[in-house]
Amino acid sequence: MSSAVADAHHAEAKGLLEVKPGPILLLGAPGVGKGTQAKELEAKWGIPQISTGDLLRYNRDRGTELGLKAKALMEAGKLVPDELVNAMVAERLKEPDTANGYILDGFPRTLGQAKWLDGHIGAGADPKSGAALPVIAVSIQVGYNELLRRITGRRICPVCGTIYNIYLQPPKVDGKCDLDGTPLVRRSDDTEEVFKERMRTYETQTAPVVEHYRALGRFEEVDGSQPVSAVAAGVEAAVERLRSSATEKKQNNGV
Ligand SMILES: [Zn+2]
Repeated sequence: MSSAVADAHHAEAKGLLEVKPGPILLLGAPGVGKGTQAKELEAKWGIPQISTGDLLRYNRDRGTELGLKAKALMEAGKLVPDELVNAMVAERLKEPDTANGYILDGFPRTLGQAKWLDGHIGAGADPKSGAALPVIAVSIQVGYNELLRRITGRRICPVCGTIYNIYLQPPKVDGKCDLDGTPLVRRSDDTEEVFKERMRTYETQTAPVVEHYRALGRFEEVDGSQPVSAVAAGVEAAVERLRSSATEKKQNNGV
């Protein structure tokens, strides 16, 4: 391939992904700032965020058939099985706002869900739409000690809701809100014990999903210890790289 052709090819791939980011799975341990980054991606590409928590609430509040089934299980203290969550996602993906892509948050959470999603995307969508592109996964990484400081250092003003961090964003006067002088409080689950347990759960749950996308060459990590805008730029660059290489592979396979 001559360099002119390579450039043209590159430009074409780039142009394509500027309109069609496709399905993006955003991963990150508790406290990495995943929600903030999802909002940045939503704003950049105008694509919706799809979280299983929101889907469960939506279906439950509307009393849909899927929602009623999930509600009964949750009230009985049981896990909502993959098939039920998958069915909710399938319904959501029929909405026209997913045509250029979407951000997945909390789904797929198991290998079974990931495999189902790959098959569902291949089978269902209009082949020319962004929704037909393969899932790519981006993980926001922050070191254990920094995450621990972000979480155990968090203090909240019970009156105005301002959030401080005794290590990273301390109040002017120790233990008091800058705005109203109220003594700051620590949420009962912002402890090292709770954090450790959540990290263990996160890592155990996510590992097979990460391995799945890594093996397919559709996984990248981004350094989440930088300022929000730098992390956002890193996530966008990772999406663009993954999207152009995934698109090239697809073209080379003649699919
Ligand atoms: Zn306050």
